[in-house]
Amino acid sequence: MFSQSMYTLGTNRSCIRDLFEYGLQQAQTVGKENVFDFSLGNPSIPAPNAVRDAFSGLIEREDSLSVHGYTPAPGLFDARSAVADDLTDRFGFPIHPENLFFTCGAAPALTAAIRALAVENAEILAIAPFFPEYRPFVEHNGAAFAVVPADTDTFQIPVADVEAALTPHTQGIIVNSPNNPSGVVYTRGNLSALAALLTRKSQEYGHPIYILADEPYRELVYDGAEVPFLPAIYPHTIICYSYSKSLSLPGERIGYVCIPDCAADSRELLAAVAGASRILGHVCAPSLQQQVAAQCARVRPDLEAYDRNRRTLYDALTSYGYACVKPDGAFYLFVKAPGGDAQAFSDRAKKRNLLIVPGGDFGCPDFFRISTCVSHDMILRSLPVFQQLISETQV
Ligand code: PLP
Repeated sequence: MFSQSMYTLGTNRSCIRDLFEYGLQQAQTVGKENVFDFSLGNPSIPAPNAVRDAFSGLIEREDSLSVHGYTPAPGLFDARSAVADDLTDRFGFPIHPENLFFTCGAAPALTAAIRALAVENAEILAIAPFFPEYRPFVEHNGAAFAVVPADTDTFQIPVADVEAALTPHTQGIIVNSPNNPSGVVYTRGNLSALAALLTRKSQEYGHPIYILADEPYRELVYDGAEVPFLPAIYPHTIICYSYSKSLSLPGERIGYVCIPDCAADSRELLAAVAGASRILGHVCAPSLQQQVAAQCARVRPDLEAYDRNRRTLYDALTSYGYACVKPDGAFYLFVKAPGGDAQAFSDRAKKRNLLIVPGGDFGCPDFFRISTCVSHDMILRSLPVFQQLISETQV
């Protein structure tokens, strides 16, 4: 006997993974150069040199026990201090080592934070378009999942629709900016309007509604776009951060939860995150990766390659007639499917070995996602296929 719901989760593969694996198979048949795989959000620029130097320096240390040993569950104090100091200096906002809990990336940070908020009848909101894993993270960690429909004109947060979705059971709302899949960065004005609403509703309900700020793309912004530091706008913020994208380390599994002192019950809530992590099997985040994060707390990625890909794809696709909000961050484009049905459009593209992700799982079935963390050369080779597909739709 085993759990049917876990079996279902383990066997219902995501459509992104399906496309990616299809691409690998097709490459064997038609040749790698004839497959245009825009499915995965796997960083395509190498980790910065400072990161690679930090890894090799640590691995070559004489006292390997201090590099590879268990650490305290929240992480090494010195590593948390280095990250806290960087956040304090960058955002002019006090963050202390005691506000931080290292995790194995953003996914465990989110699941622990959700679990920590999962009081009886708890509800967690996500704003479409959203990262599809939010649904299982919430539904299998003791809360109900509710979706705020997208504002498909701008992909900013539709604050009036958030208000309509809030109930006295709402414990948190996940805010992901820069956003996967739209690449949109929520503006300061938009976030301030959300903060005003949540402040009013928290008072009305008699308990704080937390923002879960899912920020793996915080450093991935273009044209000087601002990613406001959310705790400075709304106190009851739980940051779930990851180095997967910013330092190109997705396989190394390192990130953190940060709950600043201004959040209601901040220290108790961080203790609940520790408890939730414990039952989810967290012992500590990898010691080596914590120390790399500490040494590289002030290292930022070189985004030139992503920016070039973004501009090339956006300019070409819009010139062919595709509609798309220009992304200011992350490494995705979220494009309106010609003909309106993104699943049908993606199926047609797949027949030409162009792999794009239909937006149904992101909460927007009329859009498809293109990952721009790919080789520039592949983008150039794929453009005629994009052009043919839209011209055939218009005929
Ligand atoms: N949140 C968003 C919006 C993501 O896109 C991802 C990964 O793609 C994650 C969370 C999970 O990131 P991590 O690799 O740090 O677990």
